[in-house]
Amino acid sequence: MHPTPENLPTWDLSDLYEGPDDPRIEEDLLAACQQALAFEKQWRGRLTEENLQAGDLRRALEQYEALQRLAVLPQSYASLLFSTDTTDPRRGALVQKTRELASSIATHLIFFDLEIGRIAEATWTRLVGAPELAEYRHYLEHERDLAAHYLSEPEEKVLEETANCRGRAFRRLFTELTSRLKYPLEQAGQTRELTQSELLALLYEPDREVRRQASEVLGRTLERHAHPLHFTFNTLLLEHQVMDRLRGFSRPEASRNLDNEIPDQAVDTMVDVVVSNYDLVARYYRLKRGLLGLEDLWHYDRYAPLLSDRAAISFQEARGIVLEAFQDFSPRLAELARPFFEKAWIDAAPAPGKRGGAFCAGVTPDKHPYVLMNFTGKPRDVMTLAHELGHGLHDCLASRQTLLNYSPVLPLAETASTFAEMLVFEKLQARLDSPRARLGLLAEKLEDTFATVFRQVSMFRFEQRVHNQRREKGELDLETMNRIWQESLQEMFADSLTLGEDHRWTWLYVPHFVQTPFYVYAYAFGELLVLSLYARYRKEGAAFRERYFDLLAAGGSRCPQELLAELEIDITRAEFWQGGCDLVAENVRKAEALAREIAES
Ligand SMILES: [Zn+2]
Repeated sequence: MHPTPENLPTWDLSDLYEGPDDPRIEEDLLAACQQALAFEKQWRGRLTEENLQAGDLRRALEQYEALQRLAVLPQSYASLLFSTDTTDPRRGALVQKTRELASSIATHLIFFDLEIGRIAEATWTRLVGAPELAEYRHYLEHERDLAAHYLSEPEEKVLEETANCRGRAFRRLFTELTSRLKYPLEQAGQTRELTQSELLALLYEPDREVRRQASEVLGRTLERHAHPLHFTFNTLLLEHQVMDRLRGFSRPEASRNLDNEIPDQAVDTMVDVVVSNYDLVARYYRLKRGLLGLEDLWHYDRYAPLLSDRAAISFQEARGIVLEAFQDFSPRLAELARPFFEKAWIDAAPAPGKRGGAFCAGVTPDKHPYVLMNFTGKPRDVMTLAHELGHGLHDCLASRQTLLNYSPVLPLAETASTFAEMLVFEKLQARLDSPRARLGLLAEKLEDTFATVFRQVSMFRFEQRVHNQRREKGELDLETMNRIWQESLQEMFADSLTLGEDHRWTWLYVPHFVQTPFYVYAYAFGELLVLSLYARYRKEGAAFRERYFDLLAAGGSRCPQELLAELEIDITRAEFWQGGCDLVAENVRKAEALAREIAES
């Protein structure tokens, strides 16, 4: 039986506001505005005074957090309300209103981070170790590290004011170009104009001819629009080069590493280890080739399903599986997850106008998080439920932190969610009765891992190569970009799968390369980190648990390297990352064993 909306939960947002007309929404926003003005009046110019005292800076930080909280609550409420019915113009208008007010608040606060960067060195040395500032040390230090690369205020102003007609303009052009693309697909004598997501969904179709055709249309369409997309990327490569020179960054990915608070060496080591394990990908795709009964695998066979149609799982069953898996890890984890179900913190029913996908929204440390998903009864949905609850538990555990320390830094942001998925994956796997169903689920999991870890690393290497070659050789032509792309991605498949001609163009639509250069490695970092942590958990059992909870409870109060050092993890060492890859290897071996079992039965 398929789950019906009637037996799926919807959330109750009344812990935030009574409804969209609650007068407290307006009151909170206005109070935040007034406090921002008063804050600017009181503190502008104060941080750079020589006699700045630790107690004063702490007071400033506390006021800053208090007014931020007042601005966050209405915004979070508006966007949560909007997400369950994006077609309701009243909800859209509320989102817009809270956003506009939040921007006007932000303009009064920009001075604060800039001044943290300009505190004189002697004053900084006196302040940084002060006990009054212990809770904010990480925040202050990170702001200082960022500020070391700022230019003078007049220069920064010119850069900000011209940004909308430089890089930001090209980024916007990219978004406008790619979202307007239509992909003409011919089927049964008729041509349909597909959007990109409709087209990409066809790459998961069981019918090979459909996948092949979709891939051909993708390549052909991108080729037709290659000129403006290629020009945009080339321009941004140059801008990145110029900005790195002006701001004093030694290599193309250095500014991203600083944002992510990860030392260059840790990123390099992680990437090297993943590359040295590329043979796992090839080994899996050789197995998949056999299972699909094909002579050769092509790029359009990567996501071919091994299995379709499994019995649907009810939301009640999903809840049971997730809570049981959490309980097995630690009763505390199950305890933390229960209120999500009991107190209506989850919205799982698909509905017209509701946004797709899933997310968990942590609001502020004194308010509980909310989970949104679209539950359709697939095993994949059970994993998604676990994933989003993992985020929720992370937020609950970090709720003793203040607002500036509440959200985990990016490379740790997916730790609890991916870890929760791992726990539930094993439960779900054990629950499936046939080897064929188990293999289907395992294949999905492996292909997810390959996409998150190995593919992102090859994309990162593509970015490194084009940025570096741009710096050495000048502007790169289309053929050179295509070649570097094919080489960088073919490496991970070796001879198990061939990336054909139409794949050459597919770097052209990857938004990350344009919007947030070098972002892609964070996916690999996060997933592999969790695989390595999971390997540790299986080895150490109970001893691992408390330290894992401490890691999550720290929220964003310290940098990843320091937090992980508490678990005796050194992210600059290859052994640590290899631990995660070993777990992938184990899953590849399991898939091979299941395939043998099926062949023999
Ligand atoms: Zn997530």
